[in-house]
Amino acid sequence: MSQTQVIKVTKDTMKKMKSYYEKNRLNRNVPYSDFVAKVGNTTITAYTSGKIVFQGPDAEKIAAKWGPIQNSNAISSSKNSSVLPANFSQLSVLGSDEVGNGSYFGPVTVCAAYVDKTMVAKLKALGVRDSKELTDPQIVQLSSVIKELIPYKLLIVEPEKYNRIQPKYNAVHMKVALHNQAIYLLLNEIAPTKPEAILIDQFTPETNYKKYVRSEQNQVREKLTFITKGEQYHVAVAAASIISRAAFLEELEKESKELGMKVPSGAGATSDKVAAAVLAKGGMSLLSKYVKLHFANTEKAKKIATK
Ligand code: MG
Repeated sequence: MSQTQVIKVTKDTMKKMKSYYEKNRLNRNVPYSDFVAKVGNTTITAYTSGKIVFQGPDAEKIAAKWGPIQNSNAISSSKNSSVLPANFSQLSVLGSDEVGNGSYFGPVTVCAAYVDKTMVAKLKALGVRDSKELTDPQIVQLSSVIKELIPYKLLIVEPEKYNRIQPKYNAVHMKVALHNQAIYLLLNEIAPTKPEAILIDQFTPETNYKKYVRSEQNQVREKLTFITKGEQYHVAVAAASIISRAAFLEELEKESKELGMKVPSGAGATSDKVAAAVLAKGGMSLLSKYVKLHFANTEKAKKIATK
């Protein structure tokens, strides 16, 4: 099935994408574009504005690697993303977010966090906000404070496990399964308390999320709301985001210690080099414990290692 997906990325991500798809680039002149690439039957057009358009059968899967999908038809219509009430930020909300999906090294971490309305002001006062505005040490420190204050469920899929399940689940399906499971476990833990809403930091259209949830054993399908940049709408998503990011950073730290080399986040050229060093040290069996093998970085690392 052919489809079109649109995401908006930062200059930094755009640069990463450009080098990531270097081998896939097409010599095509599209007005206002930075580059055009083709992966299998899916075309990627990157505009200088930061807008990236993916067209083809794997559009969604590829787009999901780089950022939340922002299709006008997926996000703006009330059918596919939620319209939140004006007082939403003051409600008792269960929020969820994930980290690590776009990083070659390290796990995927997903956290669901419940913030009762009586805790909203306190968390905000502590500085719980968009993790992109925080430094790594701040994130790690805030995470341990938040964990003492509110109920949460954190799921960590380490690379070894990720590589086992990835062939069966595409990236979006895996994220849906993890969000759903974290939310399900947290709802059970806080019962009989019920959140007024469940806010998922949106990474796929709502219809798609609900489609994948149907194949899960434990299904949460009520009170779900979806919105991109969820951390701006409720501190519960900001808290979930900080906890999952801190867990991701701690796992990278652990990988660095075990390997005796600094393991980078992201999926750029540094990742290729470090992966090549891991290959030299212990081959594929060692590498598979630390990276998401299906990323293009694996092939690049092999080339560097055999040079
Ligand atoms: Mg997110």
